[in-house]
Amino acid sequence: MHPLLRLAGPAALLMSLAAGAQAASADALSGPALAWQPVQSAAQVAGTCQRHLARAQAGLRQLRRQPADAQWLRAQDTYAARVEDWAYRLSFLAHVHPDKAVRAAAEACELRWNRFFSALGQDAALYRAARQAPPADETDRQLLRKLVQEFEDAGVSLPPAQRTRARQLNERIAALGQRFDRNIRDANLRVPFTEAELQGVPAAVWKNAKRDAQGRLLLGVDYPTYGPVVQLAESAAARERMWRAKTNEGGAQNLKLLAEITRLRSEYARLFGAASWAEFVTRRRMAESPARVDAFLGEVRAAVQAREVMEIDELRQAKADHLGQPLAQVKLERWDAAFYTERVRQARYSVDQEAFRPYFPPQESLQFTLRLVEKLMGVRYQRVEGAAAWHPEVQTYAVSDAASGAPLGTLWVDLYPREGKYNHAAVWGLRSVSTDLQRQPQAALVVNFDRQGLTLDELETLLHELGHAVHNNLSQARHVQQAGTNVLQDFVEAPSQMLEDWVYDKRVLALMTEVCPACKPVPDALLDKAVAARRFGQGMQESRQHLYASYDLALYGPTPQDPLALWAQMEGATPLGHVAGTMFPAGFAHIAGSYSAGYYGYLWSKVVALDLRTAFAADKLDAQAGRRYRDAVLAQGSQRPPQQLVKDFLGRDFNAKAFFDELAR
Ligand SMILES: [Zn+2]
Repeated sequence: MHPLLRLAGPAALLMSLAAGAQAASADALSGPALAWQPVQSAAQVAGTCQRHLARAQAGLRQLRRQPADAQWLRAQDTYAARVEDWAYRLSFLAHVHPDKAVRAAAEACELRWNRFFSALGQDAALYRAARQAPPADETDRQLLRKLVQEFEDAGVSLPPAQRTRARQLNERIAALGQRFDRNIRDANLRVPFTEAELQGVPAAVWKNAKRDAQGRLLLGVDYPTYGPVVQLAESAAARERMWRAKTNEGGAQNLKLLAEITRLRSEYARLFGAASWAEFVTRRRMAESPARVDAFLGEVRAAVQAREVMEIDELRQAKADHLGQPLAQVKLERWDAAFYTERVRQARYSVDQEAFRPYFPPQESLQFTLRLVEKLMGVRYQRVEGAAAWHPEVQTYAVSDAASGAPLGTLWVDLYPREGKYNHAAVWGLRSVSTDLQRQPQAALVVNFDRQGLTLDELETLLHELGHAVHNNLSQARHVQQAGTNVLQDFVEAPSQMLEDWVYDKRVLALMTEVCPACKPVPDALLDKAVAARRFGQGMQESRQHLYASYDLALYGPTPQDPLALWAQMEGATPLGHVAGTMFPAGFAHIAGSYSAGYYGYLWSKVVALDLRTAFAADKLDAQAGRRYRDAVLAQGSQRPPQQLVKDFLGRDFNAKAFFDELAR
């Protein structure tokens, strides 16, 4: 089990206020734009940033003069497309560029864009136009409604003093959020271990690590290192040291930042008469209110509680057997959970996640997931050899429609960890489609895999992230602001979560031999065991997700809370309790950032995901269903509300039956 990987995997899609830098062709709104303009220096970033902001200001003055007639929405959306190209890539570089000075310059630029967006959100002339412009159809009406809401949520119709305060708060929150992320990204933690302490951990994980003066190995807390140590190290002391380091990533400084961010968001919500940030956020989502989220989380809790307790009992028994101690004296510690979960899985199902690595080399695994999408959704991925990107190891793919050959979009893939790189797994939509503008979408997939190969869990993570990229790449929306992953945040995970269990299907895995004839196929018996073992640990895993979601909602609730005290109390109430001296929220970037009061969306989206999956119950390679799904859901973006997209695809209203059946299985 990788609790953190599961938390991290479905990570940040940069939403509308994120910023970035330069597209290769700043003014060409259409075309494939496969080239990546190399960024070499901080000065180059600063100069480009300045130029683009000036263009955005000039464009804004022009847009304000546009009459609020039938042409207005197209002009506004064209402007939004230009701003995407001027703004998005630079902030992305802050997460992935190998040069620290470039990352810092990208962050500074991101803050300037944030100020720009903050002011744009309160632009009275544009707000008036959005309310007056006539929609041509229901798609336009949806977008105009969304624009009016966004202007209002930015404070355009507040009295002047509150309006100014809203902007100040926005800018302050953005700056604090950046510092929070940077403290994690640049922490560069190294934890010392003797070789003896690493007994049980494959040598490939640590043999090339640097050593300190006493000859101890210095290991990072990146996933390819952290995972094997907490799952496989025989030494409880070694696991504990690694687990504590990861759990405290971000440090006490981030707790202070989180406290301030929470307070400021609460003040922001009150400017609008909302009782809490959670209320302010959820009223625009599928869930509609914190009360409804609470009720849903309560149902999830009821469905997983018993299984969690049962699993923990089994792990305690495994620990007692392993150490030869009486059960009554054995306490399961948090740093024991992953280790004994692996042991139980190995003992009962004789399955070992490490055993999958030889079958899933990283590059071939990527090609396998691309082939799967090709088969299922009728597209083609073509590698563009020698294309420049932000790092020499990044790969570029041109995506096209298999039947017509028409180009659809661009995908960049960044597979391996390196110093200063974003250390979870995420997809950034760098450009959104617009059929009106003949503009093709672009997405960047960023993960951190072991060069030795992937476990089955990691293959699932890769497919999950590719699901986000596919949502961006295969969209056919008319307006960029409704394209691809620009959907409600408690829906956005559904397309990715739907695909996750494709990796447990033998016919699906057989596609591996198509992309890698030299690779040995995964033995059926090994996969059968993994499928059987998969359920063990789910009770604990879903309970953890439930805890994260409940904590997020309480932190952003109507009563002010100290982040660590609240966490200690809530985690303390779970069966494994809270470990004094640890500070998980200091590394919980989701809730410091754009998933604040939105973490529940992972569980909420999963209800939708499992319902969508029912259409593939008989055949996970059903290309007809795949094509219908592509057209009815992925292509639409947010042109229609999510409930409607699901209904269009399934031919009925969505329900939670598949989700709760799965939990109860
Ligand atoms: Zn995701």
